[in-house]
Amino acid sequence: MKGRFAPSPTGRMHAGNIYASLMAWLVAKSQGGTMLLRIEDLDRERSKPAFADQIMRDYEMLGLAWDEGPVYQHDREEAYRQAFEALRGKGLVYPCFCSRADLHAASAPHRGEKLVYAGTCRGLSDAQVRLREAEGRRPAYRVAVPSETIRFDDAVQGPYEQRLDRDCGDFLIKRSDGAFAYQLAVVVDDASGGVTSVVRGMDLLCSTPQQVYLQRLLGFAQPRYAHIPLLVAQRDRRLSKRDRDASLDELLAKYGSPQAVLGHIAYVAGLQPADEPALPEQLLKGFSVEDLPARFPDKVQIPFR
Ligand code: GLU
Repeated sequence: MKGRFAPSPTGRMHAGNIYASLMAWLVAKSQGGTMLLRIEDLDRERSKPAFADQIMRDYEMLGLAWDEGPVYQHDREEAYRQAFEALRGKGLVYPCFCSRADLHAASAPHRGEKLVYAGTCRGLSDAQVRLREAEGRRPAYRVAVPSETIRFDDAVQGPYEQRLDRDCGDFLIKRSDGAFAYQLAVVVDDASGGVTSVVRGMDLLCSTPQQVYLQRLLGFAQPRYAHIPLLVAQRDRRLSKRDRDASLDELLAKYGSPQAVLGHIAYVAGLQPADEPALPEQLLKGFSVEDLPARFPDKVQIPFR
């Protein structure tokens, strides 16, 4: 049993990141598991080493300890390349010259950001590819998906399914600037890290069928998934690092101590009955994975004030 923290070092943690991290820790620890820390810095433009250091200090301050890592995605190119070649060896990878489509592929896509690719470049002949390359255009790479339905049981959301061709489309595994895409990296990293439990925000639920598809192609075991509700700033607006919504420094100023911040988030999320300071170990005492689905009457969002 191994869970993971997988922060993107693009800003200070906010209440939603803290909540997701706490849940990942509780799910792993309540089953006698360990935690791996992976810094998801594939997106070189948005990631900053200073944010990674800050996030690690924040975890320590909140009492959310990890047992393994940190593993940095920037050290993992070779593993991604091997997986990419394995997929290419199956004849499933093709170059895509559609412009700027790959802009954000290195970051985890969040709800509403998912576009179904029309398959424009899927049928390009070798000659057409060479012609575009001769014009100096550099392709991104997509993996082709079949007309197949991926089903899995989410520990919080219950049964979930997507038909790959209709709901996902052929998706990016490498950007035109050479960076590997989030979907590929996360699958390779979870597998080589031996991660068996993935707990993260609901916004990544719709990415999971793509990840399961890649796991099956690459012969990797499928972790157990739990997609938890998002904490929202106001109705329907998700917290964002960029807008500094409920960022940890703001929360510390407001609630006074890391334990008070953690306790407040735990209270809002229904993990403890009173709004009082808490350490992760205290929350662990009353926690059981069996309660997970029942814990969220509103399975989509929890208002955070
Ligand atoms: N690094 C992603 C994020 O911070 C999480 C990816 C994942 O959990 O798979 O949004």
